Amino acid sequence: MNLHEYQSKGIFAQYGIPVPSGKVATTPAEAKAIAQEIGGRVVIKSQVLTGGRGKAGGIKLASTPDEAAQLAQQILAMTIKGLPVRKVLVDPASNIQTEIYLGITNDRAARKPVLMASAAGGVDIEEVAHTTPEKIIRTHIDPLMGLRDYQARDVAIEMELPREQWTQFIHIARKLWEVYRDNDATLAEINPLVITGDGKLVALDGKMSIDDNALAVGRHPKLEAMRDLDVEEASEIEAKQHELSYIKLDGNIGCMVNGAGLAMTTMDVIKLFGGSPANFLDIGGGAGPDKVAAAFRIILKEPNIKAILINIFGGITRCDDVARGILTAMSEVGVHVPMVVRLVGTNAKEGRELLANANMGTAETLTDAAQKVVAAAKGG
Ligand code: GDP
Ligand code: MN
Repeated sequence: MNLHEYQSKGIFAQYGIPVPSGKVATTPAEAKAIAQEIGGRVVIKSQVLTGGRGKAGGIKLASTPDEAAQLAQQILAMTIKGLPVRKVLVDPASNIQTEIYLGITNDRAARKPVLMASAAGGVDIEEVAHTTPEKIIRTHIDPLMGLRDYQARDVAIEMELPREQWTQFIHIARKLWEVYRDNDATLAEINPLVITGDGKLVALDGKMSIDDNALAVGRHPKLEAMRDLDVEEASEIEAKQHELSYIKLDGNIGCMVNGAGLAMTTMDVIKLFGGSPANFLDIGGGAGPDKVAAAFRIILKEPNIKAILINIFGGITRCDDVARGILTAMSEVGVHVPMVVRLVGTNAKEGRELLANANMGTAETLTDAAQKVVAAAKGG
């Protein structure tokens, strides 16, 4: 889950990272009032969960409260990369001297978090990473030891940060690590971290991603409450309510599988035979008829579905339960696409009988099932 800029900066502030003292507005009138309170120039920033807001026209400077209201009205009417702007952050404008980049993320290959910094901060760090990777300084963080001050200092030296800013930089880096660690983040990023005209380091932008697994087990109810449902697929929200692991994809073959590994394999085999999966779906072990029916409804709601492959390996999950779930769902939701079912394992025979009685065929092997479903999706 990604946090908005204002949410991330709110957390940064709690940890003592300097941020502009702005507030969030949902109407032009609110933006005007905040601008009045701040006094002087302000920056109006769209709060949408995507990068490049500046380039898209979603960040504008205002000299007066009236102009703030006017620009807030413009920005609140925008849609940036498909996301409606519902809130703007009104921050006091900063006197920017230098823009640097500072971020922490997981380095899977190293099995450690990594701190990254660059003197070439500002708008497009991906571009820097691509064209001039040597401009990004990295240091790995031992998760038990945490980020050591000397590491942050070495980074400051290597990126040729002026000596006057070292103490501030080390403080901010250490606090960013604490933010990252305490919130089970997979990304905590400040871009730009600016040096102002009077030599202060300030986090002008903030971005955090929280590990969904940490949220799923209830470790961060306060962060969970910050979730922005605008960016979540409606189908994924519904799946979560039924405790199904569902991820929408681009293809046209719906998949219902028990077990994450088997679900991945099923998608691979569909691709092997020239098809394209519409989703990842793990109904989990021990899924009863209700859960299967819910899964079915979610798959069938996707408009581009051309065929469905159900691949169940009955262990704890009983194949007859799955068959009953399929039949329940079929009677509830009209099934308008061909379906291929592969059932093996516990109570497979009973399950196949139930389906055969309802005039539904089953496949014996995954290869057979995948070939049949790909042909069906292509109208064969
Ligand atoms: P992003 O484009 O979504 O990453 O949004 P940012 O918050 O990083 O802002 C993009 C750019 O807008 C920054 O790199 C700055 O150059 C500029 N900007 C943001 N806030 C201010 C401000 O207070 N004053 C000035 N002059 N520029 C700002
Ligand atoms: Mn930014």
